[in-house]
Amino acid sequence: MPLTASVIDDLKKVAGRDNVITAPNDLRIFERDGSIEGAVPDAIALPSNTEQVAAVIKIAARHNIPIVPRGAGTGLSGGAVTIRGGIALQMTRMRRILEIDPVGQTALVEPGVVNQELSLAAAPHHLFYAPDPSSQKACTIGGNAAENSGGPHCLYYGVTTNHVLGMEVVLADGSVHWVSGDAADRIGLDLCGVLVGSEGTLCAITKIKVRLLRIPPSIATLLAAFPSIDTASQAVSAVIGRGIVPAALEMMDKVTVGAVEAHYHAGYPTDAGAVLLVEVDGVADSTRELMAAIRDVLSENQGYAMREAQTPAERDLLWAGRKGAIGALGRIKPNYYLHDGVVPRSKLPQVLSAVGEIGVHYKLPVANVFHAGDGNLHPNILFDLRDREVLQQVEEAGEEMLHAVVELGGALSGEHGIGLEKSAYMPWIFSPDDLEVMSRVKSALDPTGLLNPGKIFPDPERKKLPLAGRTGFAVEAKWW
Ligand SMILES: Cc1cc2nc3c(=O)[nH]c(=O)nc-3n(C[C@H](O)[C@H](O)[C@H](O)COP(=O)(O)OP(=O)(O)OC[C@H]3O[C@@H](n4cnc5c(N)ncnc54)[C@H](O)[C@@H]3O)c2cc1C
Repeated sequence: MPLTASVIDDLKKVAGRDNVITAPNDLRIFERDGSIEGAVPDAIALPSNTEQVAAVIKIAARHNIPIVPRGAGTGLSGGAVTIRGGIALQMTRMRRILEIDPVGQTALVEPGVVNQELSLAAAPHHLFYAPDPSSQKACTIGGNAAENSGGPHCLYYGVTTNHVLGMEVVLADGSVHWVSGDAADRIGLDLCGVLVGSEGTLCAITKIKVRLLRIPPSIATLLAAFPSIDTASQAVSAVIGRGIVPAALEMMDKVTVGAVEAHYHAGYPTDAGAVLLVEVDGVADSTRELMAAIRDVLSENQGYAMREAQTPAERDLLWAGRKGAIGALGRIKPNYYLHDGVVPRSKLPQVLSAVGEIGVHYKLPVANVFHAGDGNLHPNILFDLRDREVLQQVEEAGEEMLHAVVELGGALSGEHGIGLEKSAYMPWIFSPDDLEVMSRVKSALDPTGLLNPGKIFPDPERKKLPLAGRTGFAVEAKWW
């Protein structure tokens, strides 16, 4: 329902006249995230500080209007999509790095700081921020905290929650709180642990204190080719089974390598069935030793054409290919549908073969590029949204892939969150009692359910909606 003139006026009073958007064409810019979901908000508020965030949330609470925090909109599960309309709380104007403490090795940042900018700012102190989603040139630290994001180097360093020390948050009633703080051990009830990964459903995050790490003195990066996804998957299990945990262990299949190489010319072997990108870091002697051991294991598992980056520029190029892989897939089809189920590493060969069969069954190209070391697969189903017929098949294929993940003892998401896309599947892995406990936490912190409604929790109505009407680029795609 459009907001009344008096509500819009109130929003402008607290956020500033230029910081509230209501023009229909401008609103459409905020219709989507990186998923295939979409719905146009009724208004955008762009606060500049915590007080404005609190004031906007209080207005929403007073008028019973849904409110959806939003970072860069790179999320891949529809988390930032305003499925029930209302106000999108766009946090990207809050983008100051407030403090870098080189001695304590911490940083205090506003939520709109772009992930990579924090590492760039910390580099003169020989420090970096470890969680590195492949979208790190665009995504925000606030979005990362809300999604508990991972990234290639989270295999060794841990995901976002392992690096957040404390947060300032605004709850659904507009009250402002600090949860946790400087100590590595969170004292009392671990509210920070509850709020990291809550996908904008429990609070708006307004400040984040994070841990920074020393930049390792030596880094070695290796690209290895394999005849097939199967042999590459076995090599992944063998490396970890040998007790080696590399800093990163990423896999790309033949389809992805072809697209990446055509775009980045990074020297990826296009004849390979799959490639692994492996990185180790530490002191020079240990990285040399570790890389030699890894090479041995990869060779034993049919690895060939192994190439170690000789210069930082070569390393950057290898990573540019990996981190830009999803964009490069646009060379094949303009749209992708990406799921991020996670399985025990030993199940990778089975799940990838199931993914391949599902793609063949639906006659849809599938490109795999993923954090193999974590068992976190990312099948990208490639399609063209202009072909409206194909959309239903894409969604059905995605659902079948997730089902295969769960059947093999996996979970619905390794890092992208549940959001809108996977909420209907939550009963696959949680009992009604489990879900009831989660909804009690939600009710305690957001009793009226206005913070990012329609996310995480299964909504019986959702599956009844016609698929094609749900996801087209139509402005009228308002679902409730
Ligand atoms: C090409 C590509 C590669 C990617 N690679 C990875 C990867 O390697 N690892 C990974 O984990 N993810 C990856 N992602 C997914 C995505 O980038 C992450 O989920 C990221 O953390 C989202 O950040 P954002 O700022 O874009 O948040 P948005 O998409 O704007 O929002 C995501 C969720 O966070 C909530 N939110 C945002 N800001 C706040 C806030 N301040 N307070 C409370 N809630 C908030 C929103 O309500 C929403 O639910 C990738 C995405 C793309 C497009």
